Amino acid sequence: MVEERYHEIQKRVAEACARAGRNPEEVTLIAVSKTKPVSDLEEAYEAGARDFGENKVQEILEKYPRLPADIRWHMIGHLQTNKVRQVVGRACLIHSVDSVKLAREIEKESARQGLVTPVLLEVNVAREESKFGFFAEDVAAALTEIAALPHVKVRGLMTIAPFVADAEENRHVFRKLYQLFIDMKSKNVDNIDMNILSMGMTGDFEVAIEEGATMVRVGTGIFGERIKRESY
Ligand SMILES: *Cc1c(COP(=O)(O)O)cnc(C)c1O
Repeated sequence: MVEERYHEIQKRVAEACARAGRNPEEVTLIAVSKTKPVSDLEEAYEAGARDFGENKVQEILEKYPRLPADIRWHMIGHLQTNKVRQVVGRACLIHSVDSVKLAREIEKESARQGLVTPVLLEVNVAREESKFGFFAEDVAAALTEIAALPHVKVRGLMTIAPFVADAEENRHVFRKLYQLFIDMKSKNVDNIDMNILSMGMTGDFEVAIEEGATMVRVGTGIFGERIKRESY
C-alpha cells in the first residue's frame, strides 16, 4: 500500500515538474513518517524513499537505529532548544529554525561536535498565530545574524502553508516565499548557500512545485491518515 502510494506521489511530482518546465531532479520528495511505525517506513524505503521527515526528535532517535543507515532524516517540526543536542549530527537538515536563539543553540552544539549543521529558516508567510516561523520582513535581519555563526549553514527557506480546501488558495503563499528566497539569494551573504525551498504538503505540493519548491514534504499522501491529529 505504502509502496504504491509512494510511486503515485513520485509520478505526480514528475508531472508537476513537467507542467512547470522543471527537471524532476530539482525536487526532493520527503516522506513524512511522523507517528508511523517502522514497518511503514521500511515499505517506503523499499519503494526507493531515502529522505524521511519527522517532527519530533524523540521519534528520529527511536527510528533511525532500526532502519538502513543511508536514510537522510529531516527535522521538520518545531525544535526546542533543549532537544538540539540530540538532533545535531543526526538530522541531515533542520527545516524549522524559527529564532536566532535556536540557531545559536545549534551553533553551540555543532561546534562541540565539530561539524556544520545545514538549516532552513522557517517563515510564517501567512502570519498565522498558531504557527512558528519568522515573519517575512524579519528574515533578512535574522539571516545576517545567523550567517555570522560558523557552525550553522543556512541553505534556504521553509514554510507550512495554511490548511485549505483548495490548493490554489495557497499559490500566493508559495509565490511570496519564492520571491523572498530570490531576494535573499541575491544578497549573496557570506556563509549562506540559498538553494533549498521547502514548501508543499499532501494537499498542495503540486502547486508548490509549480511555484519553485525544491523539497516537498508529503505524509498522508504516502502513509495514509495519521491516527492522532498532532500539532505542527
Ligand atoms: C506533518 C507535516 C507534513 C506532512 O503533512 P501531510 O499533509 O500529511 O502531507 C509536512 N510538513 C510538516 C512540517 C509537517 O509537520
